[in-house]
Amino acid sequence: MALTCDFLVIGSGIAGLSFALEAAAHGSVIIVTKRAREESNTKYAQGGIAAVLDDSDTFEAHVKDTIVAGANLNNPRAVDITVRDAPSRIGMLRAAGAQFDLATSGVHADESRPSVGALSEKVSAKVSKQDLDLHLEGGHSARRIVHAGDMTGREVERALVEAVGQNPNIQVLEEHMAVDLITLAKYGGPEVCAGAYALDVAAGKVVTILGRSTVLASGGAGKVYLYTTNPDVATGDGIAMAFRAGAECANMEFYQFHPTCLYNPTAKDFLISEALRGEGAILKRLDGTPFMKEYDPRLELAPRDIVARAIDHEMKRSGAEHVYLDITHKSADFLQKHFPGIYAQCMKFGIDIAKQPIPVVPAAHFLCGGVTTDLEGRTSIPGLWAIGECAHTGLHGANRLASNSLLEGMVFAHRAAVALSQVDRSSPWPDVPEWDTGEAVPSDEAVVITQNWDELRRLMWNYVGIVRSDKRLRRAARRIALLQEEIAEYYWKYFVTRDLLELRNIATVAQLIVECAAARKESRGLHFTIDYRETDPKMARDMVIKRGVPAHLGQAKPA
Ligand SMILES: Cc1cc2nc3c(=O)[nH]c(=O)nc-3n(C[C@H](O)[C@H](O)[C@H](O)COP(=O)(O)OP(=O)(O)OC[C@H]3O[C@@H](n4cnc5c(N)ncnc54)[C@H](O)[C@@H]3O)c2cc1C
Repeated sequence: MALTCDFLVIGSGIAGLSFALEAAAHGSVIIVTKRAREESNTKYAQGGIAAVLDDSDTFEAHVKDTIVAGANLNNPRAVDITVRDAPSRIGMLRAAGAQFDLATSGVHADESRPSVGALSEKVSAKVSKQDLDLHLEGGHSARRIVHAGDMTGREVERALVEAVGQNPNIQVLEEHMAVDLITLAKYGGPEVCAGAYALDVAAGKVVTILGRSTVLASGGAGKVYLYTTNPDVATGDGIAMAFRAGAECANMEFYQFHPTCLYNPTAKDFLISEALRGEGAILKRLDGTPFMKEYDPRLELAPRDIVARAIDHEMKRSGAEHVYLDITHKSADFLQKHFPGIYAQCMKFGIDIAKQPIPVVPAAHFLCGGVTTDLEGRTSIPGLWAIGECAHTGLHGANRLASNSLLEGMVFAHRAAVALSQVDRSSPWPDVPEWDTGEAVPSDEAVVITQNWDELRRLMWNYVGIVRSDKRLRRAARRIALLQEEIAEYYWKYFVTRDLLELRNIATVAQLIVECAAARKESRGLHFTIDYRETDPKMARDMVIKRGVPAHLGQAKPA
């Protein structure tokens, strides 16, 4: 029998949890989440959340910084709304119990936590212009980064998970992976999303969950690339499900790469902060020669995309698996004091960063595109909403400004919750068939999954990474199509598992990235192609794609 709720939320990062907390005031919420509830990109966010809170800062400046970073492809209304709502969202997080560093002491502390419930009423009381310590980050023209040490995401996730746990209107189903959206059109009904099928991983069976509204909050897709800063859950499931269901997606070609992630076969997803380069760390080839002077006069302090492109070029040119980041001119004492996390983590892998250079590679970090939404989170399918990194709201344009993404998740979660505050319970639940396993049997060929998983991520890295060309994109498209054929065959033949579903989803996301990249015949923001090195003003539009409709430029931006 199907589970039912007013709001079905897929994902428990900042977007899903903050939506659930607000929506629970209007109806019942079920959150399905693929692994443990706190596992998400959100948990690993380091820097913080951008918000204009200082008297010397202005909304106009934050808007301008966002649009400069976004290479003028942003939707100005999305930017304006997000920037102006940021102080209230910070207030909301604090009302939910998040503790940020304070200006007075510079220490990590906050007022006592209020009880969870009417968070919105507490917001205004909690927004204080002066009490938070604000960091400055690259691309921002003022100090406006609210943070909790260098583990902001962990604190935000902790607070939201705790608040959700205390709310009787919210049920969290951990180890439940949404498999596909339920659209009534498939069963002869209207074009409406009525919920999702989800794999109960422990039981190994697929359950039906119906929601009056279904909200995708499933995060990014870093796992589509061989190297990523994202945790394992980031396989673009929400985007792939929405695309299969017929929703419009946009700007999938804009993947942000972080220049320096620790290169070690057993060290997954560990970021080596930009702050090391700020302290004079030098990027070197494997033979020890520095190379940044050949790319940019700002050397190691050039913007992120330039540094990432330089490293990529060096690796592609020489065939090396990584380059080095050398900070051995600093003493062990200094490094332990200033970079305790990085020092300890590298030591765990046998690298004493005071004595040895650190092997690094650029890594996929953040997806600017996603499922197209309006400014309240509605997708092109009635009943289906998308918020957070899986959504394309138009905020980021062609490149994300640092610390705007946690903010986006909260702002659009709030807007969606407000838009959904009237729940229409008048219609009966639709009659939807249970998941049909057909002729499927348990798999005896799991090696197909590991083989295709590796192949796909490596080809995305090599052909669709930081520097692209028409030739590389064509090669990638051919291989992805072949892999998708094999995956589809496997999918119909064997029982579904989390690994298989994730593989199917990263293949779909890979296809979308390649198709959008191939259609954008210019270089802009994060999309750089050697065949069209210049930005073409005529292409200052979103790249949109839908099942059965090839990638093409959308309408001109609103003024
Ligand atoms: C290392 C790192 C540092 C970062 N630093 C910053 C920063 O300082 N500031 C900033 O603004 N941003 C930062 N970001 C980006 C930011 O963390 C993310 O964009 C943001 O957390 C996305 O939030 P979300 O709620 O949309 O998705 P997530 O937090 O990724 O949550 C997605 C959720 O969906 C679940 N899920 C996925 N698929 C399914 C499925 N099929 N079924 C059920 N559940 C599913 C996942 O398990 C997870 O719970 C950083 C990211 C990383 C990786």
